[in-house]
Parts: sequence; C-alpha cells; structure tokens
Amino acid sequence: MMTYEERCSQSVADGGRSISFHRCSRRGIQVHNGKKYCKQHYPPFVVQKGKEDRQKWEREWTIKQLGWKLIKAEREVLDKASKFHEALGSDGVLPSEWVASGEAQGLYAAVSKMKDIAASIQKKHKE
Ligand SMILES: [Zn+2]
Repeated sequence: MMTYEERCSQSVADGGRSISFHRCSRRGIQVHNGKKYCKQHYPPFVVQKGKEDRQKWEREWTIKQLGWKLIKAEREVLDKASKFHEALGSDGVLPSEWVASGEAQGLYAAVSKMKDIAASIQKKHKE
C-alpha cells in the first residue's frame, strides 16, 4: 500500500455532476517544484501533450480545409471540361473563337490547381 506522500500531487475531478476533487491515486514518480507527480500529471508532460494535441488538431483542420478546396477545384475542372466538350464540333474541331476566348487555358489552369491541392494534401498527411 502506498502512503499518501508517495502519491501523485494532482487533484482529479470526481467526475459526473460532482464538483469535488480527489487526489490522483497513482504513484508520484517524478518531482516538479517540490511535488511528486505520476507520469500522466507531471506538469512538463501535460504542457508537451497539450502542444502535441494542438498541432495534431491544426494539421487535421488544414487537411479538412484543403479537402473542401479540392472539391471546389474538381467542380471547376468538370465545369470547364464539359464546356470544352460542348464546344467541340461533330468534326472534333474546336471553333477558333472558343480557342481565342482563353477557355482552353482556363481548363489547363483548373487542372493544374486541382493537382497542386491534391499534392499539398498528400504532403500534409506525411507531416
Ligand atoms: Zn497523477
């Protein structure tokens, strides 16, 4: 049986609807500012863990936002590709005014933007 002094100094909420606290029941194995703490409540660990959780959350949030951008970019590509398809005559030739309008360049640009977003998502996943 551990003595009270051997235990971690952290106060832990009793949980549920209770507003009371009890002392952590684990053994204090590391000392910080003269108090003993278990591995989980050791203050430098708590700070580090919070930082890591935040970084993970931020990374996931960025990936989610990139995902929305990718969906938008894909729609743009489909839209431009469908205009390209409509512009093609039955002879498979693009009308010169369509080419001159810059729509074709717009399609290339949309495809290239979509590829860039997809690549940055892959890169974020590897971080
Ligand atoms: Zn503890």
